[in-house]
Amino acid sequence: MTTAASERFDAIVVGAGFSGLYALHRLRELGVRTVVLEKAENVGGTWLFNRYPGARCDIESIEYSYSFSDEIQQDWVWTETMPAQPEIEAYLNFVADRLDLRRDIRFDTNVVSMTFDEGAAEWVVTTEAGESLVASYVVAASGILSVPLEPDIAGMDTFTGTSLFTSRWPKEGIDLADKCVGVIGTGSTGVQLIPVVARQAGHLTVFQRSPAYTLPWKVRAFEAGELDELKANYAEIRAAQRAHAVGAARLSAFSVMFEMITKPPLKSASREDQLRAIEAEGVMGALSWGDVFFDIEANRMAAKLYGEAVARIVKDPETAASLTPSHPFGCKRPIIDQGYYETFNRDNVTLVDLRKDPIVGVTPTGIQTSQKQHELDVIVYATGFDAMTGALTRIDIRGRDNASLADFWASQGPYTYLGIAVAGFPNLFIVQAPGSPSAATNFVAALEQHVEWISDCVTYLRDHGYRTIEALPDAQDEWIEHTTALVEPTVLVHPTCKSWYNGGNVPGKKRMYMGYTAGIPEYRRRCDEVAATGYRGFKLA
Ligand code: FAD
Ligand code: NAP
Repeated sequence: MTTAASERFDAIVVGAGFSGLYALHRLRELGVRTVVLEKAENVGGTWLFNRYPGARCDIESIEYSYSFSDEIQQDWVWTETMPAQPEIEAYLNFVADRLDLRRDIRFDTNVVSMTFDEGAAEWVVTTEAGESLVASYVVAASGILSVPLEPDIAGMDTFTGTSLFTSRWPKEGIDLADKCVGVIGTGSTGVQLIPVVARQAGHLTVFQRSPAYTLPWKVRAFEAGELDELKANYAEIRAAQRAHAVGAARLSAFSVMFEMITKPPLKSASREDQLRAIEAEGVMGALSWGDVFFDIEANRMAAKLYGEAVARIVKDPETAASLTPSHPFGCKRPIIDQGYYETFNRDNVTLVDLRKDPIVGVTPTGIQTSQKQHELDVIVYATGFDAMTGALTRIDIRGRDNASLADFWASQGPYTYLGIAVAGFPNLFIVQAPGSPSAATNFVAALEQHVEWISDCVTYLRDHGYRTIEALPDAQDEWIEHTTALVEPTVLVHPTCKSWYNGGNVPGKKRMYMGYTAGIPEYRRRCDEVAATGYRGFKLA
C-alpha cells in the first residue's frame, strides 16, 4: 500500500495545540522520530482560533499550563489570575520556541485520511495536498472542541451585513462601535462575548434559545510580587492540582461544581435557608446544594431558586424570567462570567427569548423572528462545536478490514478503551477521546497524563519488540459500561440533558455521555494499573 514517495516516521501527531506540542516534545525526547501535521498556520489550536472579544480560560493560569517543565513554568510570566486568549496563544508560541518544536511541525497541512496497513503494521496518512506519510504510530491530538458547528438557519448566506463566527474571529479584530450587533448562542462562548460586545456596540440583540447557568467571577491582574510567590511554591501547587479530581485545586469553573457536591441537600433546606443562600451568594447560593447533581427534583428546585437570584440582578422581570434556565443544572459544562446578568440592565441590550419567539430566518438586513424583524449590521454566531469526535470523524480513518472509525462511532456510539484507543484501530492513540476525563476537568492536566501514558506505552512496545497494540473489544465494552455507570446516578443522563457532553447538540449524533467522572487521580490509577499489568485489555503483537 505504501508508495515509494511516502515519507517515513516512527510517529505522526495530528494537531499542534496544547496536546500535540507536548506529544511532540515527549516523543522526541524518547528518540521517537516524530512529525506533527497541523492544518492551521501556527501553533495554539483552540487558542489560535477563538479570538472573540472576552475569550478567556476559566481555570487559573498557574494551573492551566504545562507542569512538565519547571524551567518553562518559572520563566513564563502570567499577568492575570485567569488568562485571556492572547496570553495563552503567546504562551504556546513561547513553549514551541523554547523547546524548538517548530522544526518538526508542518503547518497548513490538513490530514484527510489515515489507513492502517495490516501487512506492514503501519499507518498511511494522507494530506489534502496529496502528500503521503507513513508511521508505526499515530497520536491524534486533533482537539475535543476544534470543529465549529454552523447552524442551519434559512437565509444565512443572504445577509448583506457582516457575519462572524466566534471560532474564526478576524485576527485584526473588528470595530463594532455604533453597530447593531446580533449574537446567536448563549453557551460558554456567548456568555463571555456578550458583556464585552455590549460595551463596544451601538446596540446588542441577544438571540437566546437555552439560557445558561453561569456563575459570576472576578478575574484580576496579579499584584506586584504575587506571581513570584506562587512560583516559589510551584511544587506544592502542582502536587495539590495532581491530587484533585478535576486537575485544578484552586478555584475554577470545575472545582466550584465539585465543591457543591459536599454541601447539604436542598430538599431538606428551609425556605429561610434557601433565601439566606441567595442573599449571601447570589446565583451560586441557588446551586450549591449536595443533592442537585443526583436528584432531578432538587435540581428543579435549584433552577427555581436560581431564577429568583437572577431576578435580584436583572431589573426587567420579563428579561429575568427569560434568562432563567429550564434544563437541569449540570447537564452542560459549568460557566463563569464577568458581569453577564448586569449586561441585560444596559439600555443598549435586548434579549430575544427564542423559546417564545423563534428565529424564522436570516434576511438580507437582519434576523426575522416569529414576532419581529431585527435590523442588524453584524451577526455573531456562537453556536458551539461537534465536540469530542468531530475532528476524527472528519478524517477518513480506516483500521483493520478497512473499517471506518466514523461509521463505527455513528452506529455504536463513541466507544473507546480508556478514552485512548479504539478496538480495530491498532497503534492509534487519541488524546482525550470519549471516555476520558477531558470534558469535566482542567484539560491541560488531563492531556499531560495522556501524553505521558502514550509515550511510556510506545517505549514499552519498542523495548519489548512489539509492533502493534490494539484495544480488545471486551475491554472496550467494559470501559464504556464503567464510564456510563459512573454518571447513571446523576442528572447528567436525564433525557432533557442536551449538550456537547452527550452529542445532543449535533443533529443525528449518537448520544452517549462522553466524559469520565471519577476524577483524574482515579483515572490515572486505572491507566497505570493497565500499563503495570503488561497492558491488560490490549492485544500486543
Ligand atoms: P486543540 O487546541 O483543539 O488543537 C487541535 C489542533 O488539531 C488544532 O490546531 C487543529 O487545527 C488541529 N487539527 C484538527 N484536525 C486536523 C486535521 N485533520 N489535520 C491537521 N490538523 C488538524 N479547557 C479547559 O480546561 N479550560 C478552559 O478554560 C477552556 N476554555 C476553552 C475555551 C474555548 C473557546 C474552547 C473552544 C475550548 C476551551 N477549553 C478549555 C478546551 C480546550 O479545547 C482545551 O483546553 C485545549 O486547548 C485543547 O488542546 P488540544 O491540543 O487537545 O486541542
Ligand atoms: P455551546 O456551549 O454548545 O453553546 C452553543 C450555544 O449556541 C447554545 O446556547 C445553543 O443553544 C446555541 N445554538 C446553537 N445552534 C443554535 C441555533 N440554530 N439557534 C439558536 N441558538 C443556537 O458552545 P460554546 O459556547 O462555544 O462552548 C463550547 C465549549 O467550549 C464549552 O462548553 C467549554 O468547554 C468551551 N469553552 C470554554 C470557555 C471558557 O469559559 N473557558 C469559553 C468558551 C468555550 P442550545 O443550548 O439551545 O442548543
